[in-house]
Amino acid sequence: MIHESQLRADIVEVGRRLYARGYTASNDGNISVRLDAGRLLMTPTSVCKGFMTVEMMCITDLDGRKLAGDRDPSSEMQMHLEVYRRRPDVQAVVHAHPPIATGFAVAGIPLDRAVLAEVVCTLGSVPIAEYATPSTKELPEAVRQYVQAHDGMLLANHGALTLGKDLFSAYYKMETIEHFATISLVARMLGGERLLSREEVFRLQDLRGRYGIAAPAPICADPVPGGGAADCQVVQAPSAPGQRLVPDYEAFPADLATLAARRAHAPGSVPADQEIRLTYGELTALIEDAVKNLR
Ligand SMILES: [Zn+2]
Repeated sequence: MIHESQLRADIVEVGRRLYARGYTASNDGNISVRLDAGRLLMTPTSVCKGFMTVEMMCITDLDGRKLAGDRDPSSEMQMHLEVYRRRPDVQAVVHAHPPIATGFAVAGIPLDRAVLAEVVCTLGSVPIAEYATPSTKELPEAVRQYVQAHDGMLLANHGALTLGKDLFSAYYKMETIEHFATISLVARMLGGERLLSREEVFRLQDLRGRYGIAAPAPICADPVPGGGAADCQVVQAPSAPGQRLVPDYEAFPADLATLAARRAHAPGSVPADQEIRLTYGELTALIEDAVKNLR
């Protein structure tokens, strides 16, 4: 059991790092940690997380009643309480607004594609909890369906939430989400992600067991009708037996020229019978180009 004075110092340090990395601006974000079975140590409302002191922290019970501290607890306390009630294994919760990940949350794009092996192994998928007005009871309701199976999630048009077996583990998951979001954004700007195949994803899931990587739920490649989010981590990974990486033509319909260029650059990387989907406009443009070249 870590001593309370150490936990206070750790919250100050994590707040400083969140602010220094630009994951919070002004008074955004909040951090909490379990002190014991019935008490939480939590950041107070209306302070910049980059400039906190150990005396500022509040102590509450699991119903949100303040037990100690001069200031009031975080306005997002109910979201933290929801996590602690539903996940007895979780010791710490971090909420911030890291800008790239929050951009995905604003665009309504979950970070649930099988792109990076280490993210698949650790977080699995990062879904988006539906939009809820901050500081109201809507927010704990929105995160409720994802808390059981996920250690990290986006909050629509708001930010991100991470949970951990200790404070630094929750903080590092916030770093991983922002890093993952940044890499995904760059890959999409460069023409699209190649995805890990479903077969490779299940190989990675086996590694979780071999290396003792704790995950709250297994990975499933297809959404389970009627509430799969509560039971497993839905990761988008196309089936491609014998392949580890799969071009993602569905989300980024490649035109024939791009496909030909990829074939020329890496023969064999694009199977000759690969299905390509084109919009009507893209098809028309290709035919016009071909006709022009005939002249
Ligand atoms: Zn927030």
